Amino acid sequence: MPAAPSPSTAFRRRHFPGVTAKEWNDWRWQHRHRIQHAEELAALLTLSVDESAALRRLQGRLPLAITPYYAALLHPSDPSQGLRRTVVPAGAEFVTTPGELRDPLDEDAHSPVPGLVHRYPDRALLLVTNTCATYCRYCTRSRMVGASEESQRITTSRLEGALAHIAATPAIRDVLISGGDPLVLSDARLDWLLGRLDAMPHVRFVRLGTKIPFVMPQRITAGLARVLRRHRPIWMSLHINHPAEITPESARACHRLADAGVPLGAQTVLLRGVNDDLEILRELLHGLLEIRVKPYYLLQCDPIPGSAHFRTPVHRGLELLAGLQGHTSGYAVPAFVLDAPQGGGKIRLVPEHIVGREGGDLLFTNYEGRLFRYPDAGGTLGEKPTATPADAQPAAWRLTGAWPI
Ligand SMILES: *Cc1c(COP(=O)(O)O)cnc(C)c1O
Repeated sequence: MPAAPSPSTAFRRRHFPGVTAKEWNDWRWQHRHRIQHAEELAALLTLSVDESAALRRLQGRLPLAITPYYAALLHPSDPSQGLRRTVVPAGAEFVTTPGELRDPLDEDAHSPVPGLVHRYPDRALLLVTNTCATYCRYCTRSRMVGASEESQRITTSRLEGALAHIAATPAIRDVLISGGDPLVLSDARLDWLLGRLDAMPHVRFVRLGTKIPFVMPQRITAGLARVLRRHRPIWMSLHINHPAEITPESARACHRLADAGVPLGAQTVLLRGVNDDLEILRELLHGLLEIRVKPYYLLQCDPIPGSAHFRTPVHRGLELLAGLQGHTSGYAVPAFVLDAPQGGGKIRLVPEHIVGREGGDLLFTNYEGRLFRYPDAGGTLGEKPTATPADAQPAAWRLTGAWPI
């Protein structure tokens, strides 16, 4: 499969003429030279009036940061390009609509110690940094990430507190390391952290949540691969939203992780005008399989303040899923998930296929909408609900896919 030439080289020569390929391909150079100020961004992109005004108003909010590598993927003059909208601030960010919350998943209330969210009995979310290589404008944790990066830095003592809680809680079998982006940490720091988790016998499963392979793929070095190999099998959930994020560089990063024995999953946030389109999603999901990443979750966008311009109605996600399921490789189809406000946790939403029952037969539709029956003697699924509470709430059980039993 011939790889398309990377947009990086021409962009580097044009905008960073003194910078060598070696510097450009060094993640520390990329991180140090992140675009964090309006003037720097204006030198690379023709900013719209709305974008310029939004950049002036950012003070104290989710900051701007874009790696030079990622900036090369942005359309230089079209502010409506999906990828550009995910990282360049817009006026709509300042418009709060009903139902939006600073902490929509109520994570702070499920935090027994700072830096740890323990919502489900068997798994915990460990926040190891507040920094990312590139900030996403729809970030669920926009309330905490990025804010004056130095003062918000997660200290070793805070991390020790969170690790002590995990060590003292045998019910935690699964630790999800997130942030911020944990791969902004140095190899030595990650090695230390993973080593600490290895030493806890009840922790059986460790995964890292990161967008680094797609915003700063240079970070996936041979040295990092060696660190990851040294520990118990680590899984990774990679945040990617659009097929344009699959480049020769990010593909190489994913192959290097897969070669290091890291099973890779993808988490995609469904975003209006970015990827709420069957063709774009299909291209993304198929592209992921080619770089050995299994699409894991398609996430309904969380209602953070100023996110209305990104959010799609839930039925759109179900429609898109129905357009994928059965129409393409099952491996390419993620689960569509809504993270319930007020801390309800992730809820899988499935397009309904059961249409009812005739005697012992369960009736359902296939991916083409044709009707089929299965001999389901003794089953109760698909029985016409008789109890009035179920009758009163038909929409609720259709949406969750949970048939009232
Ligand atoms: C998403 C999440 C997890 C992991 O959930 P899975 O469905 O197992 O991927 C764990 N803790 C919190 C707080 C989460 O938001």
